[in-house]
Amino acid sequence: MQRPTIDRSKPVCVTGASGYIASWIVRYLLEQGLTVHATVRDADKASSVDHLLKAAKAAPGQLKLFSADLIDEGAFDAAVRGCELVIHTASPFIIKGFKDPYEALVRPAVEGTRNVLESCNRAGSVRRVVLTSSVASIYGDAVEALTKKGQVFTESDWNTSSSEDHQPYSYSKVMAERKAWEINKAQSNWDLVTINPSLVVGPSLTKNTQSTSIDVMRDLGSGRQRTGVPHLEFGLVDVREVAAAHILAGFNPDAQGRFILSGPVVSLLQMANILRGRFPQYPLPTKELPKWLVRWVAPIAAGVSRAFIDRNVGYSFSFDTSRSQSILGVQYRLLTETLCEHFDQMIEDGLLRRR
Ligand code: NAP
Repeated sequence: MQRPTIDRSKPVCVTGASGYIASWIVRYLLEQGLTVHATVRDADKASSVDHLLKAAKAAPGQLKLFSADLIDEGAFDAAVRGCELVIHTASPFIIKGFKDPYEALVRPAVEGTRNVLESCNRAGSVRRVVLTSSVASIYGDAVEALTKKGQVFTESDWNTSSSEDHQPYSYSKVMAERKAWEINKAQSNWDLVTINPSLVVGPSLTKNTQSTSIDVMRDLGSGRQRTGVPHLEFGLVDVREVAAAHILAGFNPDAQGRFILSGPVVSLLQMANILRGRFPQYPLPTKELPKWLVRWVAPIAAGVSRAFIDRNVGYSFSFDTSRSQSILGVQYRLLTETLCEHFDQMIEDGLLRRR
């Protein structure tokens, strides 16, 4: 397939536009003067769209809102019509608080992806789709790094260990990405680029997101983890870099395939230590709990399975992010800046209190 050059005078569709990551994508597109077809579940719900309307007011671009639920067949037809570029971010990012992982995660992720891509097929105008995937579709559990050269995950890795019973969010992401590649290969109008970020952090344009990113930061700063944290490591990446990468991937004809996006991999305690330097008045954790203790208490205290702890606590890994830098031109900012600005925003929005 010829690599597409996207016409910037055509609207760009962003699904899940109300979300943590997508709000920044919409804002940047509007700042570039583009027309954005933004889908949200309910375009009349102020808490979903107020921050998007505010961004539109301050920027030269045009915002058009569309209501669309991932599991309603054909719901994205109107939003995708006339677009050459579609950025599909909508998918639930929750890891607790649900009973049925299929209904809560897998169905909206996989059927939603099929639904959006079938709208792209019907539209005829679409030339490129950028899908928000995740490192969760690269690997399932941290222990898998032990089988990788230098304990480094790359874009050629695929998560084969997650299921509806073990790491269902990760399972929803890998199944959705696989579905997207399958649908992409069955047609020749549009190409597919996936953005596979690690844990996204950094200031949010909305306080009304359910993103687990916010929960991780809130758990650190709220005092919930004051007695200690497990040695769990995460790749962290700034939400603004992730948003910019979606747009770079959308308009760069040379972008193809998967792109891991990640800054440094750090432990929860290292995150807390960075934050303590700027926010000593918040009850951040000061120590790590031994794995045997975490195994004992976490299933009851945090609803985390022993299998998760066995395969994730105490393991180190890293990501090869060279493709994101050399092809997309992503420049990763300092983690301290990202974490502190995120904390500042949460304090300003009343999401965190001093001890
Ligand atoms: P978020 O703020 O919770 O955004 C998720 C979005 O999905 C929301 O806008 C939500 O729309 C939409 N959504 C959920 N269920 C839907 C449904 N049934 N129909 C229509 N829309 C639905 O979370 P986020 O962190 O920005 O996540 C955005 C994407 O990035 C997801 O695909 C996630 O898997 C991926 N990702 C996130 C991270 C991270 O660390 N945050 C890392 C890697 C990948 P409403 O507001 O209208 O409900």
